[in-house]
Order: sequence, then C-alpha cells, then structure tokens
Amino acid sequence: MGSRTKAREGMRMNGQGGIVEERPVAIDVTHPGGRGRLATMAHFIATGSADPMKRTRFSSRKRISTDAAELGRLATGLAESGGKLEDAFWEAQLGELIDRLLHDGAEDDLNAALDRLFDTNAPAHDELADMIEARAESGVLSMQGQEFDILLFNVPLLAWSRFSIPAGTIAQGTLQSLKVQLGAHVFAAGAQLALTDYLYSPDQLPRTFVDTHQLMRELGAAALAGRDLKLDGSTLPETNRFLSDTRYLVGAIAVRRGMPVFRWNEADGTREGALREWIKQGGPCLEPLLTGCAFQPLLADAYHAACRQADSASRPYSLRASVAFLQTTTGKTAEQLRAVVGGFHDQRLEEYRIGFGPRDGEAVWHGVVWPLLGAEDEGSEITGEIENVLRECGLKEVVVLDQRFPFEFCDDCGAPLYPNIEGDAVHAEMPEEKNAPSQTLH
Ligand SMILES: [Zn+2]
Repeated sequence: MGSRTKAREGMRMNGQGGIVEERPVAIDVTHPGGRGRLATMAHFIATGSADPMKRTRFSSRKRISTDAAELGRLATGLAESGGKLEDAFWEAQLGELIDRLLHDGAEDDLNAALDRLFDTNAPAHDELADMIEARAESGVLSMQGQEFDILLFNVPLLAWSRFSIPAGTIAQGTLQSLKVQLGAHVFAAGAQLALTDYLYSPDQLPRTFVDTHQLMRELGAAALAGRDLKLDGSTLPETNRFLSDTRYLVGAIAVRRGMPVFRWNEADGTREGALREWIKQGGPCLEPLLTGCAFQPLLADAYHAACRQADSASRPYSLRASVAFLQTTTGKTAEQLRAVVGGFHDQRLEEYRIGFGPRDGEAVWHGVVWPLLGAEDEGSEITGEIENVLRECGLKEVVVLDQRFPFEFCDDCGAPLYPNIEGDAVHAEMPEEKNAPSQTLH
C-alpha cells in the first residue's frame, strides 16, 4: 500500500534554507503565515492542509467537484485495501484519473481532494499525495513503437557563500560534462538523459503538480530526442539571498519500460558508490556553477524524494556553514562562540531558531532557522540533533531554552528574531568590521 511514511513526510516542507542573510527581505512575506520560501510545490499540500483556518474555509464546507470526490473515493479504497492485488485495482483507476487531471491542468481538483482527505482520512490522504507525486514526476512516452519509462529527477546541491550563491543559465560545456558524469555514475547504463540548462534556486522550482508534470513530459521528450531543455530564466522569480541555500539540477531520464533507472538498480551498483563517484567526478564539473561557494552535492533521485532529502540535509548543513562563516568573519574560534536554541510557536511549534554570538557577551550575531519537516512536532527529538551538530562543529556552549518563543519577525525587514542567552528574541546583527560601514540597517 505504498510508502505511507514518505507521503506524510511530504506534508510539510518548507526548506527555509537556514541562515538568513543580514539583509532585508530575506523572508517571502507574500506567503501566508510568513513561513519563508518554498522548497517545492509539495509544500502546498502541507501548508494548505496544515492551516486550520484554511481547512475550515476551503475544504470542509466547500462543495468539491465530481472529479475531486472521485479522487477521494479511489484513494480511500486504496487505503483500505487488504492486499497487493486489490491495491493494483485501485491504483490503476486512481492513476488514470490523476493523469487526466494533470493533463487538463486541474490543479484545484487535486488540491481540493487532498484538503478534504486531510481532514477526514489521513491514510487516504497519504495514498493520494503519494500517487499524485508519482504521476507528476513520472510517466510513459512512446517513440517509434517502443514505450519508455520517464522519470523527472532532481540533483540537489547544498551551498554557502559570504557573497551570493549563483542561480541561472548553465553554459553548454558545463551542461555536457554534468550529463556525462550523471550518466556514468548515477543512472543505469541504458538511460537516456536530458537536463534543463538552468541551476534552480528553491523559489524557481515548479510550484504546482501540473507544472511539474509538464516539465517531466518536456524533459522526457528531450531525453528521447537526445537534446536538452532550454529554459527562459527571465520568467522565473528572483532568487532570495541566503548565506546557506540549496540549488538544483533538474532533468529527466528515459529507459525502455521496466529497465533499470539508477546505477544502484544494476546488480553491481549501490547508492553509496554512486554518491561517492558523483561527488568525486561530478564535483569539479560543478565548480564553474558555484564560484565563490563551498558546496556539497547530494545524490540525484526521483524529483520529490530528492527535494525532501535536500530539505532535510540542508538543516545541519546550514548550522555548519554558519559556524564556518562566523569563524572567518569574526576571527573567533568555534570554542569562543555560543549557540542558543529556542522553539518558536504560533498555534503550535513552527520551527527552531538558533542564535549565534560570542561566548563572552549577549549579542546575537547570526541566526539559523531549523524548520520542522514532515510529521515532526514538539514531541520530536530535534534539539538533541541540533546540539550534536553544533558540538561536532566545535562549539562548547550550546544552550537549549525550554521557554516558548512567539513566532516573530522583524517589523522592518521581515528577518526572523533569534533567541539570546537572556531568553529574549532579538535581531541578529553582525559586529562592525574595521573600516566598514555599519551593517545595522534599521
Ligand atoms: Zn530587521
């Protein structure tokens, strides 16, 4: 009956990227609740469903279309099914309906069905979310009488920089080298591969299931035709500046139906081996894309799984980046720094925030947001994980405060406020550098 855990993890993703630059407008204030920017459109399942106000207004009372009701009926059948044979019966019908809705651009029907099930039937919601993601990111295309499985994939890259992390068009030569390395180390021998010629920031990824599906089909056709997909970056949203953030290579592969997709689907391949070779051989090809950045390539995977993996890996990564950044900019050692961890609450726990400053003072120089992912809540063992990462970075003083901080942002610039050692939520401000203008903007 599918990967229930995976779907529930997908319910709430926001990948805020962690460290917010000491510059204004780091937070996307257009997003309801000010939760920061979105990592993927899967976020919409989550936020839309998780907000109690929205749930009441838009799903429970509202009539939903015939198609949305049918999605609910089929997903409920699938969730209650007792075996693989019955699963296959429901999955075939559900898949067919979702394919039609994706093709027709019926995003509202998909979301209405998800919203309603979120309120009434969590297992069915997860089955439906799983199936919609699968149908958006994969499909079958025919060429010359032969059928091919198509999979949209994503290769996340974690990066940080004191300056800015690039996003944008990828030069032809670089694109070709990346394809060679991905083809050799990450995908199966028979896979035909196409990439978009664009390094995406989180804000620029497709935001809806329909858009994701469209991109899958375009890239799949490109893979079969042996070409890449040119993207007009001028239509994409501007990239917010963060000290630590994620970038994505997006592409699709085509394999003859039923053949191996990834290198680790082959008898002599493993995920670990694929990642090791991708970092070793692909890393140098990525350098021209990420000039002036420290970066860590993650393993390519199916589109939605890779987005989730990136959201999860970016949390400890941004803590490590923050400590490295503070050491280089302030001249302090890790031992001379203090981190204060606090939980920030709206109706419930929204996220943890970590304020960094000198051990011998109260100042907060820098902050990191640690968003909750998937089904995480107050009961999850998160502060221990944060503390472990910081201690690995060399910090001797990590203070976890028990108090409930209000979910507050700076009125002027929208930056999150961070906990200090006194238990106050304050604006992070870097110490003034010699011969440099003050970084305090307000
Ligand atoms: Zn501010």
